[in-house]
Amino acid sequence: MHRITPLRALGQTRRRVHGIPAGWLRDACQCPQCVHPSTRQKLISTGSLTAAAHAARVEGCKVEWGPGSVSHSAVAADLSKDRHSHEFDVRFLDKYKGVFASGERSSEGAQVKQNSPHKLWRASDFAAHRSKHSDIDYRQLVTSDTALLSLLQQLQSHGLAFVRNVPVTEADDPKQEPQLERIISRMGCVVRDSFYGRTWNVKSIQQAKNIAYTSLDLGLHMDLLYFDSPPGIQFLHSLKNSVTGGESIFLDSYKAAQMLKAESPHHFKTLTQLPVTFHYDNDGHLMKQHRYTITENDINSDAPDGMRVFYSPPFQGPLEHVRTDKDMAALVEAMRAFEDILRRPDMTFEIRMEAGMLVVFHNLRVLHGRKEFDAASGERHFKGAYIDYDVMKDRLSVLSRDLKR
Ligand SMILES: [Zn+2]
Repeated sequence: MHRITPLRALGQTRRRVHGIPAGWLRDACQCPQCVHPSTRQKLISTGSLTAAAHAARVEGCKVEWGPGSVSHSAVAADLSKDRHSHEFDVRFLDKYKGVFASGERSSEGAQVKQNSPHKLWRASDFAAHRSKHSDIDYRQLVTSDTALLSLLQQLQSHGLAFVRNVPVTEADDPKQEPQLERIISRMGCVVRDSFYGRTWNVKSIQQAKNIAYTSLDLGLHMDLLYFDSPPGIQFLHSLKNSVTGGESIFLDSYKAAQMLKAESPHHFKTLTQLPVTFHYDNDGHLMKQHRYTITENDINSDAPDGMRVFYSPPFQGPLEHVRTDKDMAALVEAMRAFEDILRRPDMTFEIRMEAGMLVVFHNLRVLHGRKEFDAASGERHFKGAYIDYDVMKDRLSVLSRDLKR
């Protein structure tokens, strides 16, 4: 038998070990009985923790809990006598010690506000960033993980990145598989399918089903806000562009929302309180979602203040949750104040997407649009596709970890 050293002599208590609550550690036990070794799935639920989930003994990083610290698990029904212990990895303890050091609840926004990986920008900020990093070359993107990581990092920080010299071979051969699908799968990403198809064409056509397929000026917007879960990342590959006009425009909506909050907090508040309706009622589809233009304190948002923005005037339907004259007037004024900021000339980054250019952007952050063009002056043909933001973040996390080694 080991001689038991009193916890207090080790600088620990029954409730707190290594600066971490003993119950939290029991819940997070990484042993093969608590986390399945091959599936890596948790076998005990937080609700199964009992009052005995305190520390009975500690030796270095090894913690033993009181008998019956969990009532049941996915592999054993009765654990009432189980004296459970586990030796934690010191890096695991160090990583989570910090979480408890502040003592603040994350729902109070303390963690959400700090260390946002996003760098909010005006047009000139983005232009400066782009001239420093220069666009990624297609050959490098598909052959080098370092180039891919750089693209993903730019997508996370600025929500917008360009790739140059992308082949346009399929432009004249509709039977050829789109280059865009090949690029996306070479990036290790999965295309998000929808009723628009795995990839879709942006060309001006007669009787278009979507405003994007006309030659009209297409104001700043986000795509697919009438979906329950809109795709986070959009790709647009320019195959042909010989028309007069039709420049592509991009704007950081987080920057604009942050400016609105600083300049007109009451309008900002209105946009967080009165939801807007988005719909797609055409071509055999009937889809609808209500969304607040701005939300805050979403712990899953990487943006400052846990912000999210949903803005897409061309896809708005009749407002359904604005029910008084007063609310309607407040919404109009608040939207006008937001749009006044969007219209400032230093906000919009404008670029002519020559054939062979590919733009990748965060659809739920960076607003995109297109200036009007003269359809008779030439041809304009872009190929588009979406991937989920999850797919982008997954690739970014794994590549960052692997390339650091
Ligand atoms: Zn365990």
